[in-house]
Amino acid sequence: MEVKISLNKKKDSLFFRAYHRVNSIIPDKRIVLGDSIKKICRFCGKGSNETKFKMKAHVMPEFMGNKYCFSNFECDSCNSYFGELEDSLSNFAGILNTLSTVKGKKGYSKFKDNTEKYELFADDFRKIIMRDENPEKNESFVIDEKSNRMNINVMQPGYIPQDVYKSLVKIALCMMNESDIRDYQRTLDWLKEPNMKDEEFDFMFHVFRKVGGEKMFPHPMAFLYRKLNNPSLRNFPSHTFVIYYGIIQYQIFIPYCQNDFHLKSAETVHFPIENFLITEVIKGNVTEYGIDRIYLGGIDKVKSERIKFSTGFKLEEKKTATNSR
Ligand SMILES: [Zn+2]
Repeated sequence: MEVKISLNKKKDSLFFRAYHRVNSIIPDKRIVLGDSIKKICRFCGKGSNETKFKMKAHVMPEFMGNKYCFSNFECDSCNSYFGELEDSLSNFAGILNTLSTVKGKKGYSKFKDNTEKYELFADDFRKIIMRDENPEKNESFVIDEKSNRMNINVMQPGYIPQDVYKSLVKIALCMMNESDIRDYQRTLDWLKEPNMKDEEFDFMFHVFRKVGGEKMFPHPMAFLYRKLNNPSLRNFPSHTFVIYYGIIQYQIFIPYCQNDFHLKSAETVHFPIENFLITEVIKGNVTEYGIDRIYLGGIDKVKSERIKFSTGFKLEEKKTATNSR
């Protein structure tokens, strides 16, 4: 199988020719999805006579800064199950959550390194403080004052890849309408099953990620896209989902739609990327377009991984406060 990832930032990109937006969640008002009287859990199918709906079910996790979007179709037992998966989603971002300066349930996310003995935390949106016992010896954060960039090289916390993917798919399924979700019964079952490798659909199990950019989102924004009804788009997955929070942008394609089972034996499968996620690097007179694609099919915990990147900053007080972009 050939996997075609299309990277085109123009308005007439393949992404916008293949998909149209069917739902958006933007942080301008409080939203509660689903029927508030007749509550039925979308994930286990149980009603209020069989299960409880006492907890506030967040559509996007709180650590992303979600304080406004809830649902009536997630029961308490599914809610705590997804809460466990979301630990991996949070760890997958690790230090990026701290640099995002988004406020979760326990305030801003802290990043600690116990071997190098430093702590990074935010005390306001876009304001990050570093507490460091040995600033001279710290090789994890090297400030380049000439270019106003900080080079970061840190150990990230561990995570279970398939839990990360399931957490993102769960948000997307919350945003789906009642008629489309009928095509995703297999996906709903898979969400609740123990993680398993699936060789046939392994090509779907990825997240496309962009970190940084011109904009920073204090609260998450999420968009669900549906494929246009056109025979030429046969080898495109039916739905794709994009979420932005802090300095992070993710895009996934949703697995196991009953109309997509032919994809596992297709010669070519297309994954067009939403314009906003594509990075642009100008080298001389050549512009290079890129996207990070990370495999999330694994079922074993990925132990602490190193992440290296650089971020722009504004020095407020020497080596104590940085403004991340
Ligand atoms: Zn449930």
